[in-house]
Amino acid sequence: MRASHTSLLVLGIVSTLVAVVGPVSADGEAVVSNASLARPSNAPRVIMGSTHHRRIHFTFDDGPEPRTTPAMLQALDELHVKATFFLSAWRLDANRRGADERAVIAQEILRRGHAIGSHSFQHEPMPPMSEAGVVDQIERSGSILTRVVGFRPVFFRPPHGLRSTRVDSELARRDYTTVIWNLNPTDYSVRDAETVLHHFNNMLRYRVEHENVLGGIVLMHDTHMWSVEGFRLIYNELMTRNCELLQRNEELFDIVDTLEPFLYPEGQEPASLGTEHDAAVRARAEAFCHARASEP
Ligand SMILES: [Zn+2]
Repeated sequence: MRASHTSLLVLGIVSTLVAVVGPVSADGEAVVSNASLARPSNAPRVIMGSTHHRRIHFTFDDGPEPRTTPAMLQALDELHVKATFFLSAWRLDANRRGADERAVIAQEILRRGHAIGSHSFQHEPMPPMSEAGVVDQIERSGSILTRVVGFRPVFFRPPHGLRSTRVDSELARRDYTTVIWNLNPTDYSVRDAETVLHHFNNMLRYRVEHENVLGGIVLMHDTHMWSVEGFRLIYNELMTRNCELLQRNEELFDIVDTLEPFLYPEGQEPASLGTEHDAAVRARAEAFCHARASEP
């Protein structure tokens, strides 16, 4: 076990506070980054997203992309959803054409209240790389993101979700939490929003029926227009299901703003995220269902 991991487990009596100061927004206010999360002392270094609660968090990979990321940000704003964006750092490399334009979008992601994670530098599978290659991907992306958004992210998603013992341990040594997913609508291999929704429903049903898992981390990409529409359809689907769950007085689908509720060992996540939070989830569902019922 690596030293940093050991100390996290042994010394973490008090929750490890991962506080990172973000950049300053256009209107002069300090931007609170994703990273001010209270991490439980026994937080796993790799999270897959499996949860026994109806909690959903959306993640978007491979951007920022000027043709599509602004449309995704618009959709997220309209539906009042906060997500995590795993940025491919090569897109922000000062030597690449268009890097300045992409940097503005990366800063806009934060300004709108979303979280930013690293998706490596080159977006190549990391397990076949040498140790030096793995370290280079981690450190180069970390320093580029630090330059562009003002802090080094605490979350890392290896390209294609491909891990190895070496990749995991180099990330843990640098105090990253590796974030995989358990709900993959495969928006990279389809071309229309309806199929994205269809694949999401199939995958969620599989998790529920075979794994007794009710929610999780959704993998999508802000680099396709059909993903923007697909996200809207998935949101609508979850909120529509809530109308029935409300009537049956069951736990509602809760589209959570951060990855924090997933930072627990499997099966140990808290049943409630607080009475205030639960009341807000219920109020949101009631408002959605009421508006839907009064549609002509
Ligand atoms: Zn990717």
